[in-house]
Amino acid sequence: ASAGPVSSIRQVKLDKESELRIEVAETPFRLRVLTGSAEIFGTEIPPEIWISFPPRLKFAVFTWYGAMIEMDGTTETDYTADETPMISYVNVHAVLEGRRNQAKASPSDSDASQGPRVIVVGPTDSGKSTLSKMLLSWASKQGWKPTFVDLDIGQGSITIPGCIAATPIEMPIDPVEGIPLEMPLVYFHGHPSPTANVDLYKVLVKELAQTLDKQFSMNTESRAAGMVINTMGWIDGVGYDLLLHAIHAFNASVVLVLGQEKLCSMLKDVLKSKPNVDVVKLQKSGGVVSRNPKVRQRARGGRIREYFYGPSNDLSPHSSVANFSDLSIYRIGGGPPAPRSALPIGAEPTADPTRLVLVNINRDLLHLVLAVSYAKEPDQIISSNVAGFIYITEVDVQRKKITYLAPGPGELPGKYLIMGSLTWVET
Ligand code: ADP
Repeated sequence: ASAGPVSSIRQVKLDKESELRIEVAETPFRLRVLTGSAEIFGTEIPPEIWISFPPRLKFAVFTWYGAMIEMDGTTETDYTADETPMISYVNVHAVLEGRRNQAKASPSDSDASQGPRVIVVGPTDSGKSTLSKMLLSWASKQGWKPTFVDLDIGQGSITIPGCIAATPIEMPIDPVEGIPLEMPLVYFHGHPSPTANVDLYKVLVKELAQTLDKQFSMNTESRAAGMVINTMGWIDGVGYDLLLHAIHAFNASVVLVLGQEKLCSMLKDVLKSKPNVDVVKLQKSGGVVSRNPKVRQRARGGRIREYFYGPSNDLSPHSSVANFSDLSIYRIGGGPPAPRSALPIGAEPTADPTRLVLVNINRDLLHLVLAVSYAKEPDQIISSNVAGFIYITEVDVQRKKITYLAPGPGELPGKYLIMGSLTWVET
């Protein structure tokens, strides 16, 4: 007799402290927890309910005490691993928890009331964003509202690429939906790598840190919960300088170094003069999947698509038409240096990296993603956060009309737009 269609449903028994690592293929895939309990990157999976995962997602189902998992669909790969660094990660969480409680106990002392400010550093694909999410989810499960800061402008988890951002995490992060895009604090750099304008990157990191400081000074709850800061994987040369800059700008109290002895000893060395900063080396998980530049590029496009269409394609962006004269688009930095006549005697003209340049609207803007600034005046653009993004779909030079996609209908929340090199081609 013929075998008939092969059922793709199968069960996997997970022993305590082990994980099931999965790379979703291009085809539908779902799973559920039949017995026991399990979590995905720090967020508990509700029992018995089938959860569908998007194509290409890479994740692990971890159990502290054992669980029976049922899977439906074929995967790119799935295997169980009983060697994970999870115990060391949860130990870090326990230490942070202690510090949050201490901070909460002294609300009127401006120093002691500050909870841990954790910064996660390491090379690309060492599991930084995953560890950040776990620490945030575990903390929010215990009732804290820690602030997530993402400084990775190439592959951030809060908003589209080209930005640095922060947002409070009020509940464990949904492994499929990601971080709710309620009202993140976002600064727009405009490029997927800081190299395009390193000075601007530093200025924005500083702005974000100062704004959070201000918010914390009025909110003891957020202050005690502290923050978890995810960084870029660029750790040598200028990348290393930018890490140090971020550690100082945010006044980090705990530096978690993933999978790199050399980076860890360098940081220990430069930070030894600061007794209030702990540098802790952590093991990289064997489950972390490396992503090549093509995969990263594709992920960037995916993030932009998600911004306009929602993580599960459940939003409909709105197309609008504006006159050229309605929009003021600025580029930050670049352009020709100031003329010699405008400089003090003896000064050499250099390109000011934070100079604002008004952009001429033409077809070069096609397919660019622009940020809508909250600035009231052009000279506030660099120090202002952004409300959101638009995507240029058509430029009609003859009629002087520009067509763009925005998440919703209606007027833009600001009149100044910022342009970088961030493009997207809708597919
Ligand atoms: P980084 O932030 O250092 O670049 P990520 O945390 O983004 O690294 O991890 C890289 C990829 O590996 C992500 O797709 C993530 O979901 C995946 N990943 C991380 N840890 C595991 C694990 N234990 N099992 C399976 N996949 C994992």
